[in-house]
Amino acid sequence: MHLNVETLALINGGEALVLSLMLWFGTRSGSNHAVQGLRLRATALLIEAFGDFILASDFKLSPLTVLLAGNTFNLTAQVLTIVALRMVLQRKLRWREAIALGVAAWLVVTYLATVHPDYRLRVLGGSIFLLGMAMLNVTALWEGRRQHDARAQHLLLWAYLLAIALVVWRNVSLWLLAMPPQGIGTPTTVNLVYVLLLGMQPLMASVGFLLLYNEILQRELHDLARIDPLTGVTNRLGLLEASDVLLARARSKKEPIGVLLIDADHFKSINDRFGHDDGDRVLLELVYNIRRMLRAGDLVGRVGGEEFLVLSPSVKEADLLALAERIRNAVERTPFHIAGQAYALTVSIGAAIADPSEPDMMGARRRADAALYEAKRAGRNCVMISGG
Ligand code: GH3
Ligand code: MG
Ligand code: MG
Repeated sequence: MHLNVETLALINGGEALVLSLMLWFGTRSGSNHAVQGLRLRATALLIEAFGDFILASDFKLSPLTVLLAGNTFNLTAQVLTIVALRMVLQRKLRWREAIALGVAAWLVVTYLATVHPDYRLRVLGGSIFLLGMAMLNVTALWEGRRQHDARAQHLLLWAYLLAIALVVWRNVSLWLLAMPPQGIGTPTTVNLVYVLLLGMQPLMASVGFLLLYNEILQRELHDLARIDPLTGVTNRLGLLEASDVLLARARSKKEPIGVLLIDADHFKSINDRFGHDDGDRVLLELVYNIRRMLRAGDLVGRVGGEEFLVLSPSVKEADLLALAERIRNAVERTPFHIAGQAYALTVSIGAAIADPSEPDMMGARRRADAALYEAKRAGRNCVMISGG
């Protein structure tokens, strides 16, 4: 089989052009980091298409000019793709490293094609910088690969590792297997695999980017649906799911979970007096004061209005009461300020212990609720524990 590099470059360029247009039209709405990454990838594809068309062209240009122009476009596309991937993944963009590697690759390949023509050295030199560029992608994908549901990320990671292996194989076969230096058009096995995968690369990388984009959006939606927009803490749905996870963990450790239900005292009068917006700010400060008292494994969520739930794994009753008292005290001692005036806020707290043998957290929630009611009845600004 004879490999015709011009035909392949033409197909490649056409593929890159169509994919670029599709990505541009598909990302016309939206402006988040992932969409910006996809648009940059679309730009890279467009530049890659130009590079391929030059390689495939019959422009009455010298083969050297064609090679250098084609390399310029293709390396620019690679640099942009590195940054695009990092944009989608929200990693440090590393523009400088990507550009430095691209320029170095261009200089080495140009030198070994013009001043000191040597095919094997040119492949080796180009490969070293290509590997550097691939590593910038691998490190971006490696980070956060253990995240929940990161399948597309894994897929892309493996694709880049495979590409690295292929580049290494191409060099090994050129240097160690004592093959005579041949151009990429020579139909050896490694050249065939290399050229075929290179031909599919625009398509594979684009689908990979889209899968990754979809995965990231799904994850963001998942998180957004579980976060209270005002205070930034877990909402009801998030608490419900976290309760199940914590309870399962408590069962395996045979340790109880502490539950605190915290309700601001006379909050309606704060709203009535200062307005809803200032009321919101007071809620934010309340959350801040609760959070700064928690241990590393504790979780706070907003159950509704001005009512918050704290789940504290592996605590005994005395520890839970101490935590509740610390929160109550911190809130009482931190006045909120409106128009330069300081005002006090207090909370009432109901506490309960969930035994790991209980089927769910509902029982403990009800007991904490009853204890909170007792705390309100006892005059507010105090802690009560169920059965205590
Ligand atoms: P108590 O001491 O008995 O708890 O008195 P309270 O006034 O705090 O009790 P109640 O639960 O009756 O009122 C809670 C108030 O919290 C009612 C509502 O206006 C206010 N609230 C609920 N959600 C928000 C919110 O998101 N922002 C603001 N500013 N106020 C809220
Ligand atoms: Mg209240
Ligand atoms: Mg309330």
